[in-house]
Amino acid sequence: MRISTVPIIDSHVHLYPPEVNRDPVAWAAAHGEKHWAELCTRRRRDGRPVQTFPSVDQLLRDMDAAGVAKAVLLGWYWENQATCVGQNRFYADCIRAHPDRLAAFATVQPKAGAPAFEESCRALEDGLTGLGELSPHSQSFALDDPVWRQILTLAAEWKVPVNLHVTDPASKPYPGRVETPLADFTRLAREFPSTNFILAHWGGGLAWSSEAKALANVWFDTAASPLLYGPEVWTKAPSERALFGSDYPLVLYPRTETAPGFGGLLNEAKQAGVTDAVLGGNAAGLFGW
Ligand SMILES: [Zn+2]
Repeated sequence: MRISTVPIIDSHVHLYPPEVNRDPVAWAAAHGEKHWAELCTRRRRDGRPVQTFPSVDQLLRDMDAAGVAKAVLLGWYWENQATCVGQNRFYADCIRAHPDRLAAFATVQPKAGAPAFEESCRALEDGLTGLGELSPHSQSFALDDPVWRQILTLAAEWKVPVNLHVTDPASKPYPGRVETPLADFTRLAREFPSTNFILAHWGGGLAWSSEAKALANVWFDTAASPLLYGPEVWTKAPSERALFGSDYPLVLYPRTETAPGFGGLLNEAKQAGVTDAVLGGNAAGLFGW
């Protein structure tokens, strides 16, 4: 296995405030976040949870254990704007406390109208360095929503990327799965050429399509890869466009692991022969670090 020489950056990590972690199911019911609860609090057929709810300190310990230098905390495609605001404030605290190890993206619900745009501005002024993980399809707003388009223009002005959740149309169904037509993402990338997009989960397969090569403003993260694809995908996508990302605290190897972590995915990536660019170089360039 090759030894990496760049600082390793995980571009796709989720974390939640302590009040969510204490009782995720009750919290989701009280805050009207049904879709999140379906995806994040479910258990596999054998009864084990699909993910755990680690604290910031646990995340840092897991990063240290695997040699991950920096993690990008992504928000969630929340249904309610109030939840987005709470997550953004929590993330602002996280990056203030650990500026050398953590960066964070803001989340918004464009259906909220002007407050969603104002919140995007506030979060970026607070030091958050992108927007996402958002999903027009799960948050049920139109690609033509005027506030959404205003937010994408804001991202271009601030030169911060927008991470979008993408599902492979050919992948097997899982509870809570929502269809995300790939043409919607290529359309947004073409309509907003000055906005940089990160399409999560290998862009649902767009990463290795011929279309992707023509889109100079699109990157792809590798989040949840082992749950979706075999190790051959690591070298299938153009290496200058791929960003190492785990989807921590999702358990990525449920057959052999019971807790989330970064080591298994890093081993898989290195064994597949990924470049240092994928492990951290591309992210450092995209985020201007
Ligand atoms: Zn994610």
